[in-house]
Amino acid sequence: MNFSHSYVIEHHPFMSPSQTVRPLHSLTLGDLEESLSVMGQPSYRAKQVMEWAYGREKRVYSWEAMSNLPAGLRSSLEEIHPIRLPEVVTVSGSKDTTRKLLLRLRDGELIETVLIPASPALYGEESDRRTLCVSSQVGCAYGCRFCASGLDGWKRHLTADEIVAQVLLAEKISGERINNLVFMGMGEPMANYSNWLQAVSILNAPWGVGLGARKMTVSTSGLVPRIRDLADQHLQIRLAISLHGASDEVRSRIMPVNKKHPVAELMEACAYYCDRKKQMITFEYILIEGINDSPSEARLLADRSRGLHAKINLIPYNTVEGLPWKRPSEEAQETFLSILRDRGIAATIRREKGHDIDAACGQLRRRVAASSPSGTLPPENDVAPSSLLG
Ligand code: SAH
Ligand code: SF4
Repeated sequence: MNFSHSYVIEHHPFMSPSQTVRPLHSLTLGDLEESLSVMGQPSYRAKQVMEWAYGREKRVYSWEAMSNLPAGLRSSLEEIHPIRLPEVVTVSGSKDTTRKLLLRLRDGELIETVLIPASPALYGEESDRRTLCVSSQVGCAYGCRFCASGLDGWKRHLTADEIVAQVLLAEKISGERINNLVFMGMGEPMANYSNWLQAVSILNAPWGVGLGARKMTVSTSGLVPRIRDLADQHLQIRLAISLHGASDEVRSRIMPVNKKHPVAELMEACAYYCDRKKQMITFEYILIEGINDSPSEARLLADRSRGLHAKINLIPYNTVEGLPWKRPSEEAQETFLSILRDRGIAATIRREKGHDIDAACGQLRRRVAASSPSGTLPPENDVAPSSLLG
């Protein structure tokens, strides 16, 4: 070993004082190689560690279990790169339906992650997909009027490892591989851009979770500068825009972000994204009765989409306790859809099973937080995670 003894920390002979504590699941392979080299370790150790952390055959959740690493090194690594998976508080739903995981983070904050079984109409044609809907922040600062996640404001960003851990825990609990990711849980991923991007590179990497970028969709309420930043990245990640209004008048009424980045500016950023990535994007459009479901808004939406060849996902509004909004009748939803289709737009209405628990991320957390100051009350219908782990 070629490190100087003046740097040695008494109980952890491999560590250098220049190293900072960063959880293992927030590191790229390069980060870990760098850290190990500071500790005088060969770089192949980093690959060994990632194989334990993410490999399908032998994925483990503690340093202790990484049996081919020297014991002294393991205990040093545990100090400097702790493994901090959130605690699974409850798992709602059953194997064949949508399952919602309520997770408690180290500081006690609660987030949700939602596992959605195969649903061919959702984001593609494969039928064996399991989609995970991932949260990116605790709360949300953007305050869209219809959304449960923003009702209590913004608490904090999730760290990269807290984002990655949602996938690991969902795979652990279901015993199945996630093959599709949507960043549509609580929070605005683009407002937590650097942590989110770090997590995405870990999820995407062959040494990491190994999910193709094309299997990941990021949803944003329209943070124009970040959409442009992402367009300039190499990742072929898919983009969904929470549009919910085709005119500034309607959109500004329900989404405060539109005052900062109006529709025309957003459309330009979308065009830039499509052009750089050579990809089609998706517009998410929640149908809210009397708010954004008029035929004139549908016609304008068709015009906006045509220019970009954007696909439209219509989502009947999911009622949020304490908010007055509701979804239009099925007939009104179909009318809106036919206006789009008559104009040659690829549009679908999302009507997946389990919709009552999978839509409107943020609701379960609010319910638990409201009913119990410590956040430990299992809501009705929930089962203890241990019974699913077998
Ligand atoms: N902040 C990002 C990602 C999280 S929201 C964004 O806004 O895109 C994920 C999706 O759920 C968004 O399209 C959002 O508008 C939608 N949503 C929020 N509340 C909803 C509700 N009550 N019913 C249906 N969809 C809802
Ligand atoms: Fe935040 Fe998205 Fe909800 Fe708007 S829709 S409040 S941006 S999570």
